[in-house]
Amino acid sequence: MNSIVTFPNRIPTTEFEERRFKVYTDRQLDKIEVIQNLPEETLFEMKVVASVLPFRVNEYVINELINWDKVPNDPIYQLVFPQKGMLKDEHYERMAKLHREGADKKEIQAVAKEIRDELNPHPAGQMEMNMPELDGEVLDGVQHKYRETVLFFPAQGQTCHSYCTFCFRWAQFVGDKDLKMASTEAEKLHGYLQEHTEVTDLLVTGGDPMVMKTKNLVQYLEPLLQPEFDHIQTIRIGTKALTFWPYRFVTDKDADELIDLFAKLVDAGKHVAIMAHYNHWQEITTEIAEEAIRRIRATGAEIRAQGPLIKHVNDDADAWAKLWKKEVQLGIIPYYMFVERDTGAKNYFEVPLVEAFHIYREAMKKVSGLARTARGPSMSAGPGKVEIQGITEINGEKVFVLRFLQGRNPDWVQRPFFAKYSETATWLHELEPAFGEEKFFFEDEYEEMKKGNG
Ligand SMILES: *Cc1c(COP(=O)(O)O)cnc(C)c1O
Ligand code: SF4
Repeated sequence: MNSIVTFPNRIPTTEFEERRFKVYTDRQLDKIEVIQNLPEETLFEMKVVASVLPFRVNEYVINELINWDKVPNDPIYQLVFPQKGMLKDEHYERMAKLHREGADKKEIQAVAKEIRDELNPHPAGQMEMNMPELDGEVLDGVQHKYRETVLFFPAQGQTCHSYCTFCFRWAQFVGDKDLKMASTEAEKLHGYLQEHTEVTDLLVTGGDPMVMKTKNLVQYLEPLLQPEFDHIQTIRIGTKALTFWPYRFVTDKDADELIDLFAKLVDAGKHVAIMAHYNHWQEITTEIAEEAIRRIRATGAEIRAQGPLIKHVNDDADAWAKLWKKEVQLGIIPYYMFVERDTGAKNYFEVPLVEAFHIYREAMKKVSGLARTARGPSMSAGPGKVEIQGITEINGEKVFVLRFLQGRNPDWVQRPFFAKYSETATWLHELEPAFGEEKFFFEDEYEEMKKGNG
């Protein structure tokens, strides 16, 4: 028997070479070589759509995640490259006309802004309702919607290594100042957390906080090791860097410091959870992606996976089953399957709730219990996170069975409720109460909360 035991977690990372981060935006579409083979019409469409919706892609994604033989149907291609159908015909035509006429940048930007304003840039009352205060002052960049969890949007993390075409945070990326939710000061965050001892979880999100330098992250997170933050048990970091730039955890200049930071937080008794955004198993097919996962897990941090169900990308039970299995194999815990939000290019990406549930159930059937930890399909709506638990018939009426996974009032959580069955509904506000009821049980209370502004 071979007596040499290898610990995969401890493979030295010298075998991976540092790589330069090279990114392309809408103004550099002409420089992306591989797409120059696509039909001219396709390139024009990309240009038109990218002048309205955010576009940004890096070389790693282009060269190593996309299977160009399958384009335009490749899921990662659909995930990052703009498609004509992402704009409504009228919006597309309006913008295409400007490009055909060679309109100047200013004109294009003005029309782009008008179109964006029609695309529900801030779904679920994100701007008005979740703004916490400290010393009578509204805290930018902090959201406190559910009692136990505070969301923090560090100012330096309001971009990503690539952009997802379906992203509901698109309004943050298009350079529109008043739409930005950002914070500059660690101090204010800490002040708020210190006062709110009911908070157990800090969720650092963006954009992608992993675009920040490690030293910035240290500034936000290390002070949480002080005793006055003992109530903060869990630090979650939402990121898609494990997909878009796994080098961040392996070979980037401050990758080792980042890994050290995770280890330090874990060693001091915090639960550190990397909330990895995954949509498709193809995102975890490279060695560097696996290495990044190994390095994070070796610190004692957990990786939990979540992501939306998106037409053209992952509206397929087999793809979800394969993703969940792969996650479990690599030690990642499947966490949420989301329903695509009602914003941006929703027309193109939306999947009816009926179909979402069907895909979820079919995928669940194909995996073992360890992969059945993914809850969903879940809608992050104004009143809370609402899960479709099933479709059934009660006293001859076909209904959706729903429940809150998270609620603006914690007492709503886990309470089943029923909506009339619908073939077409894609979001909570398109559902009606079942059994002839006028309102869902939470509606009156939620309306009161909205009036009270929180
Ligand atoms: C999902 C979410 C959270 C975290 O909820 P968990 O159920 O604890 O994962 C916190 N805040 C907001 C606004 C969210 O959407
Ligand atoms: S990585 Fe996340 S925040 Fe960034 S574009 Fe994709 S979905 Fe949006």
